Amino acid sequence: MGKGFKIGSIFGIDIRIDWSWLFIFLLVTWNLAFVFGQFHSDWSTVLRWSTALLASLLFFASVLAHEISHSLVARSQGLLVRSITLFLFGGVSSIESEPKSARNEFFMALVGPLTSFVVGFVLLLVAGGIAGPITGAMTNPEQVIGQLSPLATLLMWVGSVNIFVGIFNLLPGFPLDGGRIVRSIFWAITDNLRRSTRWAAGIGSFIAWMMIIGGIAMVFGVSLPFFGSGIGGLWLAFIGWFLNSAATQSYQQVVIKDLLEGVTVSRMMRSEPPTVSTRVSVSSLVNDHVMRSDDHAFPVMDDGRLVGIVTLEDIRSISKDAWDRTEVGQIMTPADDLEVVDPDEEASDALNKLARRDVRQLPVVSGGRLVGVLRRRDIIRWLQLHSELDVE
Ligand SMILES: [Zn+2]
Repeated sequence: MGKGFKIGSIFGIDIRIDWSWLFIFLLVTWNLAFVFGQFHSDWSTVLRWSTALLASLLFFASVLAHEISHSLVARSQGLLVRSITLFLFGGVSSIESEPKSARNEFFMALVGPLTSFVVGFVLLLVAGGIAGPITGAMTNPEQVIGQLSPLATLLMWVGSVNIFVGIFNLLPGFPLDGGRIVRSIFWAITDNLRRSTRWAAGIGSFIAWMMIIGGIAMVFGVSLPFFGSGIGGLWLAFIGWFLNSAATQSYQQVVIKDLLEGVTVSRMMRSEPPTVSTRVSVSSLVNDHVMRSDDHAFPVMDDGRLVGIVTLEDIRSISKDAWDRTEVGQIMTPADDLEVVDPDEEASDALNKLARRDVRQLPVVSGGRLVGVLRRRDIIRWLQLHSELDVE
């Protein structure tokens, strides 16, 4: 979800759009232009398309309002909100950390669907006001929709969609808002965030699988209440698949954070790692170091000081013929460009640095002296061992 671009900022929060959202935006607009045309055969093409485009934009604004409400409550609880990204099925607020208490999480989750309901009801009321008294609503709803003006049609659609967004987000599966509410209740009862997340994520996976099975059944002609049957079931199955991976992923994140809580870099770093000097040729680096260990990177030292790091990728960047006449100092990443960690730093912060820099290892430096190397695979191994030994 890193791809996308920034469109502006509201309340100091960056608003970003993921590429997948543009796709949905076009699909919704195109679909609406078609649907509006079915109910209003008297509308011109331009009117159909402009109403559809405006409806899509208002839908986009509604999803944004939903996310902003989450972010503002998060910020009022002292959490740092970095950005809001709109993507395929809605929005996601990038909030720096988990809520501090069950109570905080409860309100932070609840405010989103509430916002969608309020926006939805207000728009429906306005639409009703514009449309005025309607006769025959009970007997022939399609005819009634056909009588609505473009503005009333637009507001009616966006209003209903907001109600739907509110209801969908209240599904009790983590990481949807409803799942967060469920988790906050478990959390309040058990006082154990990890266990509560596991239960809430389990319910999330269950709901997701129901959607997948139901969606596929629809494709094969089974008629579900409210959803009907047909090829539209693919959408339901797709959303289910998406929810299932979100549930699994968010549970893993909580487990990792929880396992690494209070663990410092020094506990999982490799002490006294093999090092090389700047003047060594690349061929002896390969023969004397790379071939003799399972390390992928070697800190480069000069006079006892860390001056850089050399990795397999650096070696691969030059041709084999040049190995003899090239020195390590020429191909290494210099120390100034390196991110380093302190042995007393939290391992979870170090893991974030590894991910942010997209590197496999970080030199561990204390008082200007190299004391070890922290490798990504050491952290993964550590996590595997601890999640196997300590299942709760
Ligand atoms: Zn929400």
